[in-house]
Amino acid sequence: MRAISTAIVMLTVSVLVIGYAPNAKERQLDEFITAHVAKVKPMAKEAAIASWDAAASGKAEDYDKVSELTLKIRQVYSDREEFGLLKDLKESEQVKRPILARQLGGLYNAYLSNQIEPGLLKKMVELGTEIEKKFSTFRGTIDGKKVTTNEIKEILKAETDSAKRKNAWLASKQVGAVVAEDIIQLVKMRNEAARKVGFENYHTLRLTTAEQDVKELDKIFEELYELTNAPYRKLKKELDRILAANCGVGVRKLMPWHYHDPFFQETPMVYELDLDAYYKDKDVKELAAKFYAGIGLDVGAILVKSDLYEREGKNPHAFCTDIDREGDVRILCNLKNNEYWMEVTLHELGHAVYDKYHDAEVPWLLREPAHIFTTEAIAMFFGRLSRNPAWMQQMLELTDEQRVDIEKVSDKYAQLKQLIFARWAMVMYSFEKQLYANPEQDLNALWWETVKKYQFVKKPKGRDEPDWAAKIHFAIAPCYYHNYMLGEILASQLHHHLVSNILELESDKDVGYVGQKKAGAFLTEKVFEAGAVYHWNEMIERATGEPLTPKYFVEQFVNR
Ligand SMILES: [Zn+2]
Repeated sequence: MRAISTAIVMLTVSVLVIGYAPNAKERQLDEFITAHVAKVKPMAKEAAIASWDAAASGKAEDYDKVSELTLKIRQVYSDREEFGLLKDLKESEQVKRPILARQLGGLYNAYLSNQIEPGLLKKMVELGTEIEKKFSTFRGTIDGKKVTTNEIKEILKAETDSAKRKNAWLASKQVGAVVAEDIIQLVKMRNEAARKVGFENYHTLRLTTAEQDVKELDKIFEELYELTNAPYRKLKKELDRILAANCGVGVRKLMPWHYHDPFFQETPMVYELDLDAYYKDKDVKELAAKFYAGIGLDVGAILVKSDLYEREGKNPHAFCTDIDREGDVRILCNLKNNEYWMEVTLHELGHAVYDKYHDAEVPWLLREPAHIFTTEAIAMFFGRLSRNPAWMQQMLELTDEQRVDIEKVSDKYAQLKQLIFARWAMVMYSFEKQLYANPEQDLNALWWETVKKYQFVKKPKGRDEPDWAAKIHFAIAPCYYHNYMLGEILASQLHHHLVSNILELESDKDVGYVGQKKAGAFLTEKVFEAGAVYHWNEMIERATGEPLTPKYFVEQFVNR
């Protein structure tokens, strides 16, 4: 049997302390929740199954069914009368009982984000679809010849001729000019919708309804900026020397096209780390199952329900889905026995155990992760193990010599990967915030100022093109990107806490968590069981003794 529910403990305490009896507003909310859950729960399950089936089959009619069901759920949350009732309950400040107040907050936000005038919503959806279509059908050209994104990537990875690299990079940006006007239009519409419900702009609305405070995020990103400045400068200098030498140019002549992807968001493959050799004769599914069982998290039932191998028509990516918040959790993968899929399997099963181990006593509305980035953090925490030398040695039964070989490059690689990503995530967060604050400003110039400030990459002389618009996320996943960074930060904070306070070790050098049941038990009790009973930052503070802080991300990847 599992430990007593945190939610129950909390309720018992509040009963004892205030001699609890529900007031009229609380009774009203309770009734609303009962009716709401009775309506939404079967719809959510049906939509989750439809989505699972569509990903498995790839059939257009299955995807149509998903859109239809998603729309139906959206309609529930756009009901004005119900929103009015929730607003009244919220403003009354009479809902005191914590477990009810949490549910009220979640419901209020869900309804609020759907209170867009139908006419405006329709225009936004149509323009969004139009932009997405342009993104998927546009092909850049090199010397008048169409090229695919993959061809561009190949050139940026391997080409040593700077002129050819430049042409490939320019081709990657051409889509920007095609979609920029539409994106600005969409941003203005989103802002208009946000102002109608009382927010200064859409960025603030999106963050607020996701329980994120702009000031709080600013503070975290500012601290991360300060702490990574000097080490990033040093690391980039070293990297630039290698990149310049590879292309036979001086370091001062390095341009954006000398990095290995169009936005310099990934690690250039200059310290290549080939770990596939260690995985090719293993079974990544068995390894993952064995590892999770070893830390006391049973993924057997999840794997039985999952769809793990490639098939014609099947979604080529990977995801995890909680079908019913009652234990039916599945992952979809396209497994091969290599390091990439080892990471993905550990990652998706991280999401899966979070979902599986929510306490069944927690109300249905709160039986989900505390935040989208907290589940991402757990997934990243486990995903990182696929290149962790200690984990690899134990799980793959490697010799000490093999482990030393891996260690020679893996630390450097992890550091580069995380630093480069952090600086890139700062560009995304900062630019997007300013994009919504004033979409009329000179965005082309703002983009390059931002890139220079955070990534130390300089603008090609005289360039005045909407290079920012070539990043699809501004159009299709607005105000979301920062969550990837917050996930990395929390993964490191949990790692630090586990190493220092749960395993009580001086250093994480030999920590791969293999067989560490204490780690599984800690995550279950402090993170998974609570679901969304607490605000994400309260959950983090209860689990680690501190609210979210970039300190440990910096400790793990920067100050090594
Ligand atoms: Zn994920």
